[in-house]
Amino acid sequence: MADYDVLIVGGGPGGLAAGQYSARAGRKTAIVEEMSCGGQTMIIDEIENYPGLGQILGFELAQKFEEQAEKFGCEVIYDQVQSIEQTSDAEFKLNLFSSSVTAKALIIATGAKHKVLGVPGEEQLTGHGVSYCATCDGPFFKGKKILVCGGGDSAIQEAIYLSKLSDDVTVCHRRDAFRAQAGVVNKLKATKAKFKMNQNVVSINGTDGKVSSVTFLNKDTNEEYTEDFDGVFVFVGMEPKSDIVPMCEKDSAGYIVTDATMKTSVKGIFAVGDVRNTPFRQIVTAASDGAIAAHYASEYIDSLK
Ligand code: NAP
Repeated sequence: MADYDVLIVGGGPGGLAAGQYSARAGRKTAIVEEMSCGGQTMIIDEIENYPGLGQILGFELAQKFEEQAEKFGCEVIYDQVQSIEQTSDAEFKLNLFSSSVTAKALIIATGAKHKVLGVPGEEQLTGHGVSYCATCDGPFFKGKKILVCGGGDSAIQEAIYLSKLSDDVTVCHRRDAFRAQAGVVNKLKATKAKFKMNQNVVSINGTDGKVSSVTFLNKDTNEEYTEDFDGVFVFVGMEPKSDIVPMCEKDSAGYIVTDATMKTSVKGIFAVGDVRNTPFRQIVTAASDGAIAAHYASEYIDSLK
């Protein structure tokens, strides 16, 4: 007998929604989470596009997701998954840091982690002026000169947050058009933020172990120049945390391939949210994935009988 019907790896919006739907469907369900539940929602300042909630702080939304999953009986195991084994046709074993636990079906909701720019100075100055989290580190740069790198939703949304802390925020993007949704771009354009379009960051430079300037390449003029900055926030995309399931098919970028029911290439393993090959990554789409995966995981468990 497996310990659980469904085990979910990762407690972000996708995992918590899956936990809620699975437990509510009467399946013995647990989420294995290595840190605290909420995933990337925890580091977003304000969320204004989750339907039905108006404007809400990221950590408040995460808390609501977790409370609702637990209300229906979903457990949370705080531990780290070291590896996953298929122990029979109908059982998977999660080897955790401090124990092991089994389930009939798995839902992988491990999300994605931030990418780095990979320019000289970035690694050495991380934590000394280079940051990947505006809500965590933004307050250290109140009133200071801030650079935001990237042109996706994260960069633009975090630049909006940082523009509340400083009137001197510049966004540098490698192309002349943003990838981010027009709504957030327009909101940023209404602030005092400045833009460096079609420019690359060549290096991040430090003085006395702290960020002091950034060297850019203006691709229109092919000119390199250096400008003083106190802080550099890097939001240049994410990479999936999919190493935990080497047995599942991935796309060329490492995202887990699923069908519309969130099934992966391995029977009994489902994947949801940012870790899967989805065309649009939002809190609401991760939550929707979770509901779908829980439904089909339950159907899969019925098929085992
Ligand atoms: P993203 O959408 O992949 O955007 C990454 C940005 O960084 C792109 O503009 C890309 O440029 C740029 N970039 C990538 N590598 C670079 C490099 N080496 N040097 C300079 N620039 C580089 O990533 P994201 O903004 O982190 O968002 C990830 C996912 O989460 C997306 O699906 C996004 O929609 C979603 N998200 C949604 C919300 C929301 O709705 N509230 C908030 C945050 C994130 P190019 O455009 O030239 O490729």
